[in-house]
Amino acid sequence: MATAERDYYELLGVSRDATEAEIKKAFRKLARELHPDVSQEPDAPERFKEVAQAYEALSNAETRKLYDQYGHAGLRRGGFTPTDFDLGNLGDIFSAFFGDDLFGRASRGAGRGGDAVARLRIELIEAYAGVTRRLELDVAHTCGRCAGDGAEPGTTPVTCPTCGGAGRVQQVSRSVFGEFVRAGACPGCSGTGRVVETPCEECDGQGRKLVEKAVEVEIPAGIHDGQQIRLRGEGHAGVGGAPGGDVYVEVRVARDERFERDGNDIVAAVDLTIVQAALGATVTVPTLGGDVELEFEPGTQPGEVRVLRGKGMPVLQRSGRGDQRVLVNVTVPRRVTDEQRRLLEQFEQGSDEDTYRRDESFFDKLKSALR
Ligand SMILES: [Zn+2]
Ligand SMILES: [Zn+2]
Repeated sequence: MATAERDYYELLGVSRDATEAEIKKAFRKLARELHPDVSQEPDAPERFKEVAQAYEALSNAETRKLYDQYGHAGLRRGGFTPTDFDLGNLGDIFSAFFGDDLFGRASRGAGRGGDAVARLRIELIEAYAGVTRRLELDVAHTCGRCAGDGAEPGTTPVTCPTCGGAGRVQQVSRSVFGEFVRAGACPGCSGTGRVVETPCEECDGQGRKLVEKAVEVEIPAGIHDGQQIRLRGEGHAGVGGAPGGDVYVEVRVARDERFERDGNDIVAAVDLTIVQAALGATVTVPTLGGDVELEFEPGTQPGEVRVLRGKGMPVLQRSGRGDQRVLVNVTVPRRVTDEQRRLLEQFEQGSDEDTYRRDESFFDKLKSALR
């Protein structure tokens, strides 16, 4: 697809160092212009698609970085595939970015506000203990100047002449599959049944304005990477007193280099020197709840697994905890002094078959650690 190779910054008309807010603003402006309910240009849907893909890539810090460094090829290698928008379903595209009816589309219920989507990144230790995070997001609020009806104070909206106030009309739409007749939101009034002749100066007749809003998100202990938290009614304001939409917060749990999470269990490795493993030792092992002292018997083998009951992650919204499994790694000296060499050689000469008697194989133990 040749069109996929156009420069994303160019498509959005922003500079390469544009801020997140500038990118969002540019996309919003273009989306309004290219919205097929508004634009008569035949190539508007295609252009809209390109612009939406550019926005999708650049509005996410990770994919934007990939794109900045390696371009389109980098995005593909990084596993980024733009959402394949169904142009027959533009309402969904807008709701994906801004919530359902920020553009005045009455696509759901009686003007219920659209849902907003946000993402939070937390540390594993925060997922273990639970954490409250403050989140700032842009949501549509009812405009204070016109109280949401979009009309400049002193004027009132009038009944829509296109639909006679019904809010819905039969629309004929053409597509590659032929003509469709469907009942849809009235394009004259976007489904509200009324039109504003003198738009409110503050909100440009939209009745709502985007504002930055801070919400507290309580993240429960035990949450898994990628789970969503729904904040009821915290999304975009509804139209004409209808309830607001929700906010869906996707929680990403960062990796912790000390621990591997396996469901509710935690897997960690502990290093014992060959001497500690051979003679036994007490060593400090980190757990998410703090360090613990673990005693290892003489003759501890690499690959052995110690299970610390109840030291894993809390089980989300239930009682109980997972375990922590501690996998023993035995470290071998990389460099020895002459004296150490002499001692090790002497040790080897004094060893026999019984010194290194085998039991369960290393790989069986490894498998049980990673089960
Ligand atoms: Zn207003
Ligand atoms: Zn109408």
